[in-house]
Amino acid sequence: QAKPRIVVLGAGYAGMMTTKKLLKNLSPEEAEIVLVNKHNYHYQTTWLHELAAGTINPNQVRIMIRDIISPNRVRLIYDTVVEIDKGNQRVLMENSELTYDYLVVALGYESNTFGINGMDKHAFFIENFESCQLIREHIEYQFARYHSDPTMDEASLAILVGGGGYTGIEFVGELVEKIPKLCKKYDIDRGKVKIINVEAAPTILPGFDHDLVAYAKKSLQERGAEIIEGTKINECTAEGFIVGENNELIKAGTIVWTGGVKGNSILDKSGFELTKGKVTVNGDLRAPGYDNIFILGDCAWVMNKAENRPYPPTAQAAMQHATTCAQNIRALMYHEPLEEFVFSDKGTVASLGVTDAVGSILNGTKLYGKSAATMKKVVDDRYLFLLGGPKLLLKKGKFRPF
Ligand code: FAD
Ligand code: NAD
Repeated sequence: QAKPRIVVLGAGYAGMMTTKKLLKNLSPEEAEIVLVNKHNYHYQTTWLHELAAGTINPNQVRIMIRDIISPNRVRLIYDTVVEIDKGNQRVLMENSELTYDYLVVALGYESNTFGINGMDKHAFFIENFESCQLIREHIEYQFARYHSDPTMDEASLAILVGGGGYTGIEFVGELVEKIPKLCKKYDIDRGKVKIINVEAAPTILPGFDHDLVAYAKKSLQERGAEIIEGTKINECTAEGFIVGENNELIKAGTIVWTGGVKGNSILDKSGFELTKGKVTVNGDLRAPGYDNIFILGDCAWVMNKAENRPYPPTAQAAMQHATTCAQNIRALMYHEPLEEFVFSDKGTVASLGVTDAVGSILNGTKLYGKSAATMKKVVDDRYLFLLGGPKLLLKKGKFRPF
């Protein structure tokens, strides 16, 4: 009898860790493992704000998949998934197709514009490696252009960030460190460059600890960012955002939307039943009605039953999903009982540039400033270690001195 084929879609946090765990749980004789990803590299989604601001070398953000996962053990397919044909247990890709016995869907998130007029057309998104390269290059282009073209106005230098959740605030934290360097490079007065964050909720980082929110706001303002809270973005035009009850226009030459995320649109295209663009998975992380399909990471809507709300989509959760999923695939193969996913919350740390951060860890211990920034680097480096051991940590780790 042929051995079962396990197909993992997406080489992000969930996909990479699931593949690694499957390799540990199953011998080559027990199953064929296939990993499908758009590119031949895995990138650190949690570092994308740094890539977009230009505060990190792009090559530090990505890792060749074959350096982590041996092609001798896992069939690596670099292709773009177009649709999952659940009825025939097939994955359709741009250049080929493939059948599966067990499927793991870990295709990550897409930016959610909530249908705001003009956002898709005029804003950049912190969505993937390429979209962030584009932001970095666009910002630098605006500076180069202002420097060489006397007809350009100051608004062309302004950077507008829509949404003050973790992504928006971490991005602004990088910008306040990067912009002075760009000003020096292009001989532009720092006072001419506005960095503006607009948040609809009464404060940035809604839901986060009040003291930490106040600290983050002050830190960013002191370094020259403008934070506009309690103000909804109604529309996006080529000139900027139209905001608030009076539909005021805020102009900028670079517009970035960080107002929210949804599951990969492949889920919708493939006919899964969705809650806010994600699949509401069963406790064992399977898609309802499909015994052999697991949905992980940012594609999954996983309920926190104690609080009757979903867990936020994080890399921390995606990696924990991977452990449960790999365990459950083995259990399915051997007709054993499946385990329920239980999230173990290690806390949240948000960077505010290289040297500053805020965090809440271990049941509410608060961290500020350099201790939080150090903790953030420890978290980042821990992941690299889990993924590729000391070799990867030494190659891509964050050891930048303050
Ligand atoms: P991803 O890691 O995004 O991976 C998805 C993979 O699927 C990618 O490799 C992509 O190329 C591939 N893919 C997508 N579409 C296709 C397709 N059609 N065909 C083939 N391949 C495809 N979480 C934390 O816990 N801590 C943090 O500090 C943190 N910081 C963050 C900072 C930023 C700026 C952002 C944006 C998010 C941050 N998050 C953080 C959230 C975290 O990054 C996500 O929850 C996590 O990446 C989800 O993992 P995933 O495996 O579901 O998706
Ligand atoms: P988010 O949904 O957490 O934040 C989006 C923000 O945009 C919200 O504060 C929302 O009020 C605001 N917004 C939405 N519509 C708006 C409008 N019309 N006008 C003005 N503001 C508007 O999204 P995110 O920041 O991209 O984060 C996505 C996920 O990734 C979250 O689960 C987050 O926890 C995770 N993440 C974690 C970290 C970290 O742990 N350091 C960093 C980045 C992201």
